[in-house]
Amino acid sequence: MGAKTYYDILNIPKNASEKEIKKAYRTLTKKYHPDICKDEGAEEKFKDINEAYSVLSDSQKRAQYDQMGHNVFTSASKGSYQGGGHGGGFSADFSGFGDIFDTFFGGGGGRHGPRGPQPGNDLLMRIQITLKDAVLGASRDIDVMHTEPCPACDGTGSATKKTKVCSRCGGSGQERRTNNTPFGQFVSMSTCSQCKGTGKIPEEHCRSCNGTGHTTVRRTITISIPAGIDTGMRLRMDGYGEAGEPGAPNGDLFIEVQVIPDKRFIRTGDNLETEVTISPAEAAIGSRKEIETIEGKIVDLKIPAGVQHGTALKIPGEGVRRRGRPGDLLVRVKIVVPKRLTEEEKELYAKIIELESQKNSSKKGFFKDVINKVKDNL
Ligand SMILES: [Zn+2]
Ligand SMILES: [Zn+2]
Repeated sequence: MGAKTYYDILNIPKNASEKEIKKAYRTLTKKYHPDICKDEGAEEKFKDINEAYSVLSDSQKRAQYDQMGHNVFTSASKGSYQGGGHGGGFSADFSGFGDIFDTFFGGGGGRHGPRGPQPGNDLLMRIQITLKDAVLGASRDIDVMHTEPCPACDGTGSATKKTKVCSRCGGSGQERRTNNTPFGQFVSMSTCSQCKGTGKIPEEHCRSCNGTGHTTVRRTITISIPAGIDTGMRLRMDGYGEAGEPGAPNGDLFIEVQVIPDKRFIRTGDNLETEVTISPAEAAIGSRKEIETIEGKIVDLKIPAGVQHGTALKIPGEGVRRRGRPGDLLVRVKIVVPKRLTEEEKELYAKIIELESQKNSSKKGFFKDVINKVKDNL
């Protein structure tokens, strides 16, 4: 990612408010969504945007980020930074971003001493919804594959449900490595590969989960899609991510929404736009047209006499249903000139032309009179 900070990526000042962060995120994800933007590097950019947002939208992580600075923070996030004496600290693994089903948070950072039980990883899932569902809200059943604590061993990974001290690290959760380099000898600490930093290993491997303590299961969950949702927005399902270690909570499931373009309606903010086709005669004299709303309601729309091509007529309240005031439905008038005329129609149009030219010449005549009068007075 180079030396760009998360603020640079979202193109916001360092003191940006939560609202500004959210707004920048929405705008950018819409622009660089891999399904929309086919530019080279768009997917990479999309990942960066999500990474930046996941940190800056969380006040605790943002504070740590501001304190540590970009480089230290991001290398800490990737698990290679050996934090100082103070315990705690934040760790995240963003490396897997971009696939349909991703793990994007969690992972253990290197710290001194055995770490406590780790919460499960969060999951990211993408779904497509219709514009109608986005406008009106809907509920949807989705299948989620995620890990849950193994029922046979209560998530301990041990057939006896008991654990023992890890022989590799002696319970510290850390391994010491000595590296010889041209610059001298470095001692580095890393998470113990046998116990993954917990300092404990199963007393006797559980056969059902092979000692991992987790099983992968498919769950059908019902999500409710709030009215007004738009492409790039995420829903969070608490606890539907990966199983945590015994005693720690599950991760969360994030569902990112992509709205499929509609044939009849275009969304602009909270408004919807559609089109109505009328003839030149209807435009001149005025007309009434039946308009079907996105909900399927039929509205009788009055088209005023003298309406111009491209004019938007408003049907209030038939746009995006948001809390508070809903958006409107804008019906854009499209005047279509007939390609073939009957003899009778031709005569009528010819009559109109005749009347129009009379109107114009009488106007010219009037101006001629005025000009002549002015000249006479000179
Ligand atoms: Zn160990
Ligand atoms: Zn098990």
